[in-house]
Amino acid sequence: MIVILAGGTGSVKLVRGMAAITDDIAVISNVSDNIWLHGLYVCPDIDTITYSLAGMLDKKKGWGVSGDTFSGLEQMKKMGQESWFRLGDKDIALHIFRTELLKEGKSLSDVSDMVRRRLGIKAQIIPATDDSLQTMVLTDKGKMHLQEFWVREKGKPSVKSVSFEGLENAKASRIAIDAIRKAERIIVAPANPISSIGPIIALSEIRKEISKVKQKVVAVSPIIGRSAVSGPALKYMKAMEVENSPVGVARYYSDFLGTMIISKTDSRMASQIEKMGIRTLQTNIMMHNRKDEIRLARYLLK
Ligand code: GDP
Repeated sequence: MIVILAGGTGSVKLVRGMAAITDDIAVISNVSDNIWLHGLYVCPDIDTITYSLAGMLDKKKGWGVSGDTFSGLEQMKKMGQESWFRLGDKDIALHIFRTELLKEGKSLSDVSDMVRRRLGIKAQIIPATDDSLQTMVLTDKGKMHLQEFWVREKGKPSVKSVSFEGLENAKASRIAIDAIRKAERIIVAPANPISSIGPIIALSEIRKEISKVKQKVVAVSPIIGRSAVSGPALKYMKAMEVENSPVGVARYYSDFLGTMIISKTDSRMASQIEKMGIRTLQTNIMMHNRKDEIRLARYLLK
């Protein structure tokens, strides 16, 4: 079995590529960007992976259901409700379904598994924890939830630090730990190291388990040169004093990482990563289309 630690928009490309090659995949999903909105529990990273593997993802936006409309949200706005987080009319069905089941006492793992089965997805989708864990961003405009920073404030405020609220009481999902123990290979998707992979590996049991099998752990750099392919990774990395390069990401992952895949264009950085005891391989790590996704997934399996 291949285990993939994943966030949302960057991770999903690799997950999709891997799913085109094998069904024997367990995606351990970040949950710390989950948020309660309009009385509904919304799980953006889990949903991006779910919609993508069900062939429903709006690929242009990178989130939500393709061809969705937003009439419900417009109606909410007319009633004076907040509408900065775009919940589509089709998308909302999943949030209602999930919230109903959670209120009946089911765990987030149970619900995520039920949803993926009903949508015909073969890969397992496992929330890293069933407990509450939220990424909070301390900015010059105060402390706010990651979604408030990135979606409501459009990522504009300057970032002082990033923290995970609820971490002391959050336990890693049993199913996630079992999957890691059974895994042939553990892939760290090209994802935001601080806000997508950070909260997963902050769960001490997950970190401990993957550290035991370092030689099986392979990460794809989300940074090429000194730039992130997309999203706020550099802003968070700077705040957390992680160097903005594949070297910085490798150092951040160094206690559990066996192999780092970097861009061919970053070959000059390989020796610095090798010095940390991390094997470094170089290939094209940009995924523009399905062909690129499958090519990189195949490379990772080799
Ligand atoms: P988020 O939850 O939407 O922020 O998504 P992720 O955490 O999964 O992914 C965001 C990260 O993926 C960013 O840091 C990007 O630089 C990186 N990324 C996006 N597309 C690609 C790609 O094609 N190749 C690589 N190597 N990284 C990518």
